[in-house]
Amino acid sequence: MKVKPVGIERTELLHKGKANNVWATNDPRFLELEASDRISAGNGAKTDVIAGKGEANNLISMAIFSQLEEKGIPTHYVGPGSNAASKIVLKAEPILLEVIGRFKATGSYVKRYECENMLEFDGVYVEYTYKSDNAGDPVIPNDAIVALGILTKRELGYIEYLTEQVALTIRDFFAECDGELIDFKIEFGRLPNGQIVVIDEISPDTCRILDAKTGMSLDKDRFRKDMGDVAEAYQEMAKRVAGLAEDEKSSTGGCAFMA
Ligand code: UDP
Repeated sequence: MKVKPVGIERTELLHKGKANNVWATNDPRFLELEASDRISAGNGAKTDVIAGKGEANNLISMAIFSQLEEKGIPTHYVGPGSNAASKIVLKAEPILLEVIGRFKATGSYVKRYECENMLEFDGVYVEYTYKSDNAGDPVIPNDAIVALGILTKRELGYIEYLTEQVALTIRDFFAECDGELIDFKIEFGRLPNGQIVVIDEISPDTCRILDAKTGMSLDKDRFRKDMGDVAEAYQEMAKRVAGLAEDEKSSTGGCAFMA
């Protein structure tokens, strides 16, 4: 379990992203990431504000990062931040890739290959996109990742291994919340000592999760596809994650999921 780091206070706002704010802190080793209520889709083509989304996403993201750490998967997560929408993280140099893991085909994959929606993969299917708003985040082949010097072949193998570990961990995590994980996006960065770690957020903004019983979307697809009840979906996932933490607390006397 992670507790709020003592003595780390946020100072100036460094960057206001599409969905998150990045703050400097009084210690140069750490940043504060604040999840906002802003929501966007289609590379910023569609935007809105969903009240309570930032807090819901941060609660879910902190719980997942704590789980990853417990499983020995390295992340930059340090602990809760100055408010319910914030977390303290180690400063890392972002690797310019979005790493996508898929258990079933949907979204851009179905458009690209014209396959059946929800085609089930054998294990987790991993692919990479080059993180560039200008270029439109295109899918990038492994050889290009190495040729462009984004990662060495060895690092790419390590990232694929970590992504598979993350996939299994978060699939189980959402299953405990009566959800089915369909696909997700994660990002990696390098710590000053060179170690590669999972960074950023893992939340209903970056995962597709269906209610295990009804098949209802409990993620950003509700916004992308104008399905309605967007705020409700984020609140529902946050409620389930908080419930999981309560169950853990009462059964172990500790709190495995929540930070
Ligand atoms: N995703 C994301 N950020 C992106 C693109 C995708 O978090 O910029 C997530 C998305 O929520 C889904 C997974 O990555 O869980 C796979 O998305 P896909 O490639 O199908 O793209 P989309 O259909 O979302 O454009």
